[in-house]
Amino acid sequence: MNKQDELVIFRWATCDGGYTMHSDYQGVRVMDPTSDEWSYYDPGFEVPDIHRKLAETAPTDDGFFSFVEQYGTLTLLNDYTSSCSLSNVSTLHSKVTAVLKLWEEGEKQLALKFLSRSYPASTFEVGVNLSPDGHLDYKFVPNNLYSFIEFQLIKELANGLEYKACEAPACNRRFAISTGSGAITKRQTKTKRAKFCSDACRQATHREKRKNT
Ligand SMILES: [Zn+2]
Repeated sequence: MNKQDELVIFRWATCDGGYTMHSDYQGVRVMDPTSDEWSYYDPGFEVPDIHRKLAETAPTDDGFFSFVEQYGTLTLLNDYTSSCSLSNVSTLHSKVTAVLKLWEEGEKQLALKFLSRSYPASTFEVGVNLSPDGHLDYKFVPNNLYSFIEFQLIKELANGLEYKACEAPACNRRFAISTGSGAITKRQTKTKRAKFCSDACRQATHREKRKNT
């Protein structure tokens, strides 16, 4: 998959020093980053099934805390350095869990109702630029991880995506494969026969095989 084929581009960051949890003056549980060093990542490539990772997270303070430690703050601001309230994480967790369950049970109208009852709301920007051959190229840029996770959920449902583990020995990534025929399927996913998350993993595995024969 070429980066330029992607419809959505998104990067986020986790705090190298980790996070602390405290209660604010209203008694709301809040998580704050503890240092100014950040590790940037591309969730669409590293964890395309991040909405399922959230759904699999235990719905407890500890569960939500470790989710934020691993993937970064679930703020509604366009700012990975800001703190987030645990209730944001909890709200999105309930929503993703409910929608996935209803969809699997065939209750698609109900699932959509849940999806559109969107508070807090997702926000995106659209980036445009002219390609060298003169056509207009555009990308959607989610403003935060919260919006990105909602998008990944909708993308899975709209395109009948499944997630497969990369076969390269040193790689723990999963990648999306398409089973349906949604509008963006061809732009953003691989076919069922794909074995690797990226060209880099495919080449590394083939090099390794040649070395061992
Ligand atoms: Zn891989």
